[in-house]
Amino acid sequence: MRFESVIGLEVHAQLRTRSKIFCGCSTTFGAPPNTHICPVCLGHPGALPVLNRQAVDFAIKAALALGCAVQETSVFARKNYFYPDLPKGYQISQYDRPLALGGGIDITVDGVPKRVRLTRIHMEEDAGKSLHEGFPDADRRTAIDFNRSGTPLIEIVSEPDMRSAAEAAEFFMRLRDTLVWLGVNDGNMEEGSLRCDANVSVRPVGQERLGTKAEVKNVNSFRYLQKAIEFEIDRQIDLVSSGGTVVQETRLFDSTSGRTHSMRSKEEAHDYRYFPEPDLPPVIVDEARKVAQHPRDEEVPEKIRQQMVAQFGLPDYDAGVLTQSPAVNAYFQDTNHHVHAGQHPKVVSNWVMGEVLRIVKERGDDIDTMPVRPRGLAGLITLVTDGAISTSAGKTVLEAMLAMGSRVDTADTAAQIVAERGLAQVGDESALLEIIRDVMARNADAVAQYRAGKQQTFGFLVGQVMKGSRGKANPTVANELLKRELGG
Ligand code: ADP
Ligand code: ZN
Ligand code: MG
Repeated sequence: MRFESVIGLEVHAQLRTRSKIFCGCSTTFGAPPNTHICPVCLGHPGALPVLNRQAVDFAIKAALALGCAVQETSVFARKNYFYPDLPKGYQISQYDRPLALGGGIDITVDGVPKRVRLTRIHMEEDAGKSLHEGFPDADRRTAIDFNRSGTPLIEIVSEPDMRSAAEAAEFFMRLRDTLVWLGVNDGNMEEGSLRCDANVSVRPVGQERLGTKAEVKNVNSFRYLQKAIEFEIDRQIDLVSSGGTVVQETRLFDSTSGRTHSMRSKEEAHDYRYFPEPDLPPVIVDEARKVAQHPRDEEVPEKIRQQMVAQFGLPDYDAGVLTQSPAVNAYFQDTNHHVHAGQHPKVVSNWVMGEVLRIVKERGDDIDTMPVRPRGLAGLITLVTDGAISTSAGKTVLEAMLAMGSRVDTADTAAQIVAERGLAQVGDESALLEIIRDVMARNADAVAQYRAGKQQTFGFLVGQVMKGSRGKANPTVANELLKRELGG
């Protein structure tokens, strides 16, 4: 029997507000434990929540960018459960009247485009954090840091529309791009400001009814998400094929073993005893507020991608890579602007996608800390597009810039390096002719073979000319001259 996998994601994204959702405490990450707390986020009796306006604005903006229908009235609810890091004994969330409904994200995997529908987006508060190490009696006690308690989140729930781990990873990436571009989330999965739970089930191909799902928690990178889902699909198929049944449960992903294991049986909604939060009025969003939060084109990566394809004639692929973050896009745009006022976008794209992003990745940093700044790179690329140096000499110049150990932000640094190292391309006919005649004299056999009709030897002879010029020959000029000299 052949199986199909079905995946739906629930993504929690921290909103980039300065203060928490129901009190004035700071949301700064990494502060000493329990320094950003107050009676509200500690759940002291009698303390009353006040909704953070900026959090709602960010949530509205995200919902509009994702094509959701923002509801005029939405309602906070108490979700009751006991957990040590949940001081009130309930989480303030939204339940049957969430902020936004519908929407979707377009993905393309293996060239196949597809729209993954969203079910809803609702607002809620984060819990505190249990600490199991880093203090003296950690072998006997668990400590709790409430700094994160009350941090504003949106939960984005997808329909079960994905059919592979690759589709799920693509969905999550596109979603992250969107949230980061909008400026509503920092995209930092390691610090937990973006988290994803994957719901996975399998069913025989052709069966309409969905199989029983397991929910995998604790996946904090794209790679782990893909691995966790792949493991879970295999586990469920093995189970069902050998006559077993999938149990509805919550499972944890262990990145060390690459496996998922059972954490707890899945609770049902009625277990939470949801009821409307009596301390907060309904959230009313009028038209004017939606208009004010409507994302501008330059905040939506998909729009920027389309514009880069139309304006610069870049391939879709390039546009996708160059809009992976606002910082990468700004780097490309600046560099491009400085190379003959944007006349060579594809050449600039090749340099940024190839060399710059490779170097950034090797350094394990982000592009803002790349020492060669757009003006410096533009100086180099201009020399290449003008034919003053070859592409390979350009790479040598880039290495030399990195070796300088300081920021390179001026257009003439590249030219200085070229002059110092004698990297200028030889395009001058007489100099090249001298090299070509020398190569022909030393390779009389190859010349004779070429003239006898063996075309392949041409490549060999070009190679010898390039070598003779120590890589500095202008390849186009060298090719033409060599053909002429060979009488081809
Ligand atoms: P629950 O009530 O268990 O939280 P929901 O219906 O709210 O389940 O769905 C939670 C998430 O699980 C959604 O992203 C949804 O698309 C996904 N989902 C629901 N049923 C399945 C299924 N059978 N297989 C895979 N994903 C599913
Ligand atoms: Zn507080
Ligand atoms: Mg649910």
